[in-house]
Amino acid sequence: MIKKRQTRCVRVGSVRIGGKNPIVLQSMTKTDTTDIESCLNQIRKLVAAGAGLVRIAVPTRADTEAFGKIAAKSSVPLVADIHFSPARAIEAIEAGAAKIRLNPGNIKNKQDIKRIIDCAKQHRIAIRIGVNEASIRDLKHDINTDRRVALMLREITEYVRFFERHGFENLVLSAKSADTIRTIEINRAISRRFDYPIHIGLTHAGLKEDALVPSAVAVGTLLAEGIGDTVRISIAGDPVQEIDAAKQILGVLGLYHNSKPQLVVCPTCGRCEVDVVRLAKKVRKILTKINKPIRVAVMGCVVNGPGEAADADLAICAGNKKGFLYKNGKKIAVAEEKRLLNAFCRQLEKIERP
Ligand code: SF4
Repeated sequence: MIKKRQTRCVRVGSVRIGGKNPIVLQSMTKTDTTDIESCLNQIRKLVAAGAGLVRIAVPTRADTEAFGKIAAKSSVPLVADIHFSPARAIEAIEAGAAKIRLNPGNIKNKQDIKRIIDCAKQHRIAIRIGVNEASIRDLKHDINTDRRVALMLREITEYVRFFERHGFENLVLSAKSADTIRTIEINRAISRRFDYPIHIGLTHAGLKEDALVPSAVAVGTLLAEGIGDTVRISIAGDPVQEIDAAKQILGVLGLYHNSKPQLVVCPTCGRCEVDVVRLAKKVRKILTKINKPIRVAVMGCVVNGPGEAADADLAICAGNKKGFLYKNGKKIAVAEEKRLLNAFCRQLEKIERP
């Protein structure tokens, strides 16, 4: 059982981050922010996939204007992503941001930060202090992991202490790197030093096929240690993939209660007598229509398969010409593939409508 580290609870519009609240899944819109309809469309898809917060880049004045119109129609609180420009931060807060993200690496002027703090206080919004390893000015290419982590920690600590001195503690913290080990180390260090909620994820993780494993290792390790109150899995591509990946990582750790079935498939071996991957794809397609958190197994043989799928609610063990269908470990049908799949579908109907 994972014991979540105790953090403060921070309010972001209607969403609560930290404390005893469930881990919040986030992503970013990837459409031009001034294209209001496209942004809203992407937000709708993200919310349908499970996003609790959506972040939007606002690099120009036109973007913060559009942000206000998007925020007025969004069903979830929006976070404005700020880099370099204090003016954009203030415009975004006034336009209706529930939270802004500031990067200490590129907004340094104390007077500017003070103005942002005053504006955030006035509008009662949250601020994420989000350090990116690549934005740290003192960073040299040759310095080692410990020194890089120390620099990130120093950067975030100086910022946090400045906010605290000005009476602002409605903070979420994050420190991201493209490197898995450094992301784990810096978040451990932040968690030891502060009790603010932490937003976790890698930055610049890559295309989906390259991003998933490093992200799962970094985010999964931290979550397993109880660290992380909100998660973003960075993937270059459709942002819905980010939410799907986050749900899978959380699901594996028992931190996300999915209403969809889980499909396990044996890795296949020389005992297989049928094309298990083809069969599993058929089963996966059938399961897309099911909204029950059941466990389904597709196994490649009738010898080892039944034992290995014993804890599945339904299991298909494929065999030459005939396969077996198991329900809760009990064999309930023996038939060739088409009839076996029909029997499988009937069982699913019973499970859906008991
Ligand atoms: Fe091989 Fe059968 Fe195990 Fe699949 S279930 S990996 S086919 S032994």
